[in-house]
Order: sequence, then structure tokens, then C-alpha cells
Amino acid sequence: MRAATFHAPGDLRVTDIDEPTAGPRELKLRMHATATCGTDAKIYKHGHPRLEPPQVIGHELAGEVVEVGSEVTGHQVGDRLQVIAAVPCGECWACTSGAMTVCPNQTSMGYQYPGGFAEYMIVPEQVLKVDGVNPIPEGVSYAEASVTEPLACALNAQELVHVGKDDVDIEYRVLAACLERMNYAEEDGLGSEIEAAIQGRPERSVASMGQAKCVDQLLAHRPITDVENATALERIA
Ligand SMILES: [Zn+2]
Ligand SMILES: [Zn+2]
Repeated sequence: MRAATFHAPGDLRVTDIDEPTAGPRELKLRMHATATCGTDAKIYKHGHPRLEPPQVIGHELAGEVVEVGSEVTGHQVGDRLQVIAAVPCGECWACTSGAMTVCPNQTSMGYQYPGGFAEYMIVPEQVLKVDGVNPIPEGVSYAEASVTEPLACALNAQELVHVGKDDVDIEYRVLAACLERMNYAEEDGLGSEIEAAIQGRPERSVASMGQAKCVDQLLAHRPITDVENATALERIA
């Protein structure tokens, strides 16, 4: 099958590779749409500490089931599925307290598992274990379904910070919430700084003071070469 395999920064090869088969606890999908994430662009340019090349990348995934492992229940050939990008362990304190998105043992499609820039992709056992596939409703295209994860991030963030239709300073509040969730805000006072900026309605634009500043601050505190930090930065990117 054709697949785009990342070999090194700047070296992404579209070649023929062996078509995978589903193990007993896996599904095999024919990929219909895999969106390009900003992280894919970062991987292409710089590589990624959690990704050992060569690897098929692509993690914004939508496809059709073509093979069901013998021990898998609840899925059948022909099902249209969207697949999670980041895969929680399902067992740690974060996962068991309902905060799977911050699971410290997280793995990802297109990193530790071959991703969706290929004709076929395996949905690993771990994804099924944490209920990480979603049926695509009728009337939603594969292309639309493939961007479910970024859309869900935006919706969840908006819900967390109660952003309404006419609200301004949205970026501040979303960032403050993200930082709080990562426990950075409390640690370095960044949360209250942002809070003050929101209250004071600064004449400076949100863009000039918002995201860039927070990312700078995080970088200053924890170098991006650190694996954990890169992950954290990605979570707010
Ligand atoms: Zn992504
Ligand atoms: Zn976990």
C-alpha cells in the first residue's frame, strides 16, 4: 500500500509498504481522510522526541472498517469511524479521575503507532480499550470527521472557560484555563497575570499579549528539548 513515512526532519517519503493485518484485538481501517495537523508540520520540520522514525505519521483520522479482529466486539466491516489522536492509558490517576486528556502515559497515533497517511491503518488494542473510536454519523463526511479532535479541543476549552458568542479576550481565558489545568499557572503566577490582563481590558491586542507571551514564559521555564515540556506545549498549541 502507499504510505507517507517520516524518516528524518525534511525527509517524508511516499512509498509502497506492507499492508497491515488486524490482530485479534485490533481493527483495520481503509483511510478515507487524514487531516494534516500543525504537529505533522512540526514533525516534518523538526522531528519529535516521542516519535522514533521511520514511522507513518498522521493522527487526525477517519476511515472505514475493512477487517475486525477475532476478539473485537461491537464493530463490523463497513463501519465509518473517527479515531482519537492521543491515546490515554486508561489506568493512571488522571484517567481514572476522568481527565484522560492529561494522562502522563499517553501514546499517540502516528507516533508510537503507525498513523493515517496510508491507504490502511490498524486501530491498536489500546485505542479500543479506552473506547477511542467514534462512529461517524450519517451526513458527516470523512473529511469533516477527520478534524473532530481539534474541534473537540476548541469546544471543550470554550466550555471550560464559559466563552459566549459576544465575549472578547477569548484567547486569554482559554490560555488561562489551559495553564491552570497543567498546574503551571499556580506555580509561576502566570494565571493571575493573565487574569489581570482580562480585567484591565488592555488596549494592546490579544494577539500581542496572549498566546505568544504564554508560550514564551513556558519556554523560559522549561526548555522545549525536554520531552515532557514539548508534550505540554503541544497541548496548548
Ligand atoms: Zn493533531
Ligand atoms: Zn492514564
